[in-house]
Amino acid sequence: MQKKTLPPTRPSLDTLACVNAECKDYAQPGLNNLTVRKTYGQDQIRYLRCRTCQQEFSERKGSALWNTKVSEEKAVSVAAHLAEGCSMSATRRLSGVDKSVVVRLNRRLGKHGEAFHDARVQDVQVEALEADERHGYAQDKRSPCWEAEIIDPVSKFVLSHEQGARDATLIERLLRDGAARLHNRHALLLLTDGEPSYASLFPEIFGVPYQPARQGTRGRMPKVRYRIPRTLAHVQIVKQRQGARVVKVDVRFAHGSQKCAHAGLERLGYARFNTSAIERRNGTARRMVAYQVRRSSAFAHRPETKKALGWWALTVYNWSRPHAALPLPLPCPLGKKSAFSVPLRWRSV
Ligand SMILES: [Zn+2]
Repeated sequence: MQKKTLPPTRPSLDTLACVNAECKDYAQPGLNNLTVRKTYGQDQIRYLRCRTCQQEFSERKGSALWNTKVSEEKAVSVAAHLAEGCSMSATRRLSGVDKSVVVRLNRRLGKHGEAFHDARVQDVQVEALEADERHGYAQDKRSPCWEAEIIDPVSKFVLSHEQGARDATLIERLLRDGAARLHNRHALLLLTDGEPSYASLFPEIFGVPYQPARQGTRGRMPKVRYRIPRTLAHVQIVKQRQGARVVKVDVRFAHGSQKCAHAGLERLGYARFNTSAIERRNGTARRMVAYQVRRSSAFAHRPETKKALGWWALTVYNWSRPHAALPLPLPCPLGKKSAFSVPLRWRSV
């Protein structure tokens, strides 16, 4: 009998690690401690043994494909269609699987995408950030479910993604998550829309806390206050509309000096304060998630479906799509071409 060849997506053993949390080689790939015991199933999945702790486990353990009954080819097809903006039903039709498979895989992809983002996006160095919210629905058309995001306008990398009702808690979760992923939260320019919560939360989340001196020697200590360092600024871009048309754009210097804000603008190479990077990202995100398409009747029946799809689309956007706005110079020009676009957004991570 002819031996089946492994699917092309099979990862090298060097990239896999022991899944036994009590093993000293746990989660450390490239130690040459894994051997293949056997292969099983329609996809010839490898059953591995760790030489250090003798534990045996499937190579899919801990991955989004763990315990999936559909073939790898179909699972990959479902994932690809979802990230291209297909709805659950369209994905079912195109991939030839049951709708329950699409729903289940979508949730897994979302969960793994979020965990991957969490593990990788730490200690990020940025010069500026842009934040905004996108309108959408979950459950029915009377239940708005917004997506709020923070983007680095230089690398176009999305640092934070939050979903929920549009209120101060959504903005707070977004800013706290974004700030926690930064190498230095005290040196940057934050550009947002005119939403008042951004301005009221900014000092507490990005500023430097200090304890004001007590008046006299008795009584309670005064509340902790927040100082805005000279390297930090928050600018709000407030659009005034007449109907759907923007008639005027006001720039509000919410926190930090105007000098610092203008220095940040110069570093970005912008002529005026704007939130174009996040607005461009809003357009991309609406094309990648079926339930975010404007003026359509599409909405997710379950909020968790929308959340998972948002995270999966973000993972694909951040880590596997080349970005046309990120050209790198070619080592030597090729005809008229002197630069090419690369998926290297992790340059800044
Ligand atoms: Zn082990």
